[in-house]
Amino acid sequence: MRTLRTVAEVRDHVASARAAGRSIALVPTMGAFHDGHVALMRDALERCDEVIVSLYVNPAQFGESADLAAYPRTEHEDAAIARELGVDALFAPADAEMYPDGFATTVTVGRLSEVLEGAERGPGHFAAVCTVVCKLFAIVAPDVAFFGQKDAQQVVVIRRMVRDLNLPVELATVPTVREPDGLALSSRNARLGPADRERATALHAGLEAARAALYDGERDPRAVEAAGIAAMAAAGVTPEYFSLVDPDTLEPVSAGARRVLVVVAARVGPARLIDNLPLDLEPVATR
Ligand code: AMP
Repeated sequence: MRTLRTVAEVRDHVASARAAGRSIALVPTMGAFHDGHVALMRDALERCDEVIVSLYVNPAQFGESADLAAYPRTEHEDAAIARELGVDALFAPADAEMYPDGFATTVTVGRLSEVLEGAERGPGHFAAVCTVVCKLFAIVAPDVAFFGQKDAQQVVVIRRMVRDLNLPVELATVPTVREPDGLALSSRNARLGPADRERATALHAGLEAARAALYDGERDPRAVEAAGIAAMAAAGVTPEYFSLVDPDTLEPVSAGARRVLVVVAARVGPARLIDNLPLDLEPVATR
C-alpha cells in the first residue's frame, strides 16, 4: 500500500490505475479506524479494483476547537489496518495541501445543511464537509465513493451535492456497524469512561423504542418520538434532538409516512454522539 501526501501523487496514482483499466473507489475518513471504517473499506474492495482511502481530519468541520484537539490521530495504526485489508493507497494530506494560501471557495447545500446536525453544530459544519468531499472527488475522480449510514445526514447532504453539481460519482452507503449492545461504533466512543459508556446505549435504546412503537401501530410521529425520549430518559440521557424525519428532505414526517428516518443526537459525558435508524413501514400495514 502506498501513502500519498500530495494531490499530484494521487493524480499520478489514479492515472496509472485508470490506464490499467481499473475501477476506482474512494473511502473518505478522518482516521482512527474501527470496524465501521473497515466495513466501508471491505465493501469498496469488493466492488472496485483500486481502493483509495483518504485520511484527513478536516479542521474546517469542527465547531469546537476542543473537539478538534481531542480528535484521535493514529495514522500509523490506521495504515497497518488498511494495508492488511488490501487497500491500494492511503491519501493523507497536510492541511496546507488541502487549504493552500488564499483558499476561498465553499460548497454549501442549502436547507438540508441547516437542520438537525446543522442546527446543533452550525451551518458551517456541512459546508466544510461538502467542500472537502467535493475536493476529494475532484482530486481522486472515483467511480464509487463509500459513506456510512451512521452519518445519515452527511449521506443525504452529499447525495444532494452530487446531484445538484452533476458530479460524476456513484455513492454507496454502508449499514451502521454496532457494538454487541447496540452502540454505534464511533471514534468518539473512546472518550467515554465506564459509566458514560453504559449510558451511551441510551441512543440505541431510544431508536429501538421508536421502532417498537411504530411496529405496534403507533402512527403519531410525536408519540413515537416521546416513546424514544422516554426510553433514553430511563438510561439517564436527554437527547439534543430525537426526530422522525423524511429520509430525503430531513423534514419532520407527518402521520402515515411510509419511509422514516429516526435520528438522535445526545451528549453523554464528554462525547457528543449521533445515531439513526432508517425504517420502511410498509411491512407493518400487512402484519
Ligand atoms: P469518520 O472517520 O468518522 O469521518 O468516518 C468515515 C466514514 O466512516 C463515514 O462515511 C462514516 O459515516 C463511516 N462510519 C463511521 N462510523 C461508522 C459505523 N459505526 N458504521 C458504519 N460506518 C461508519
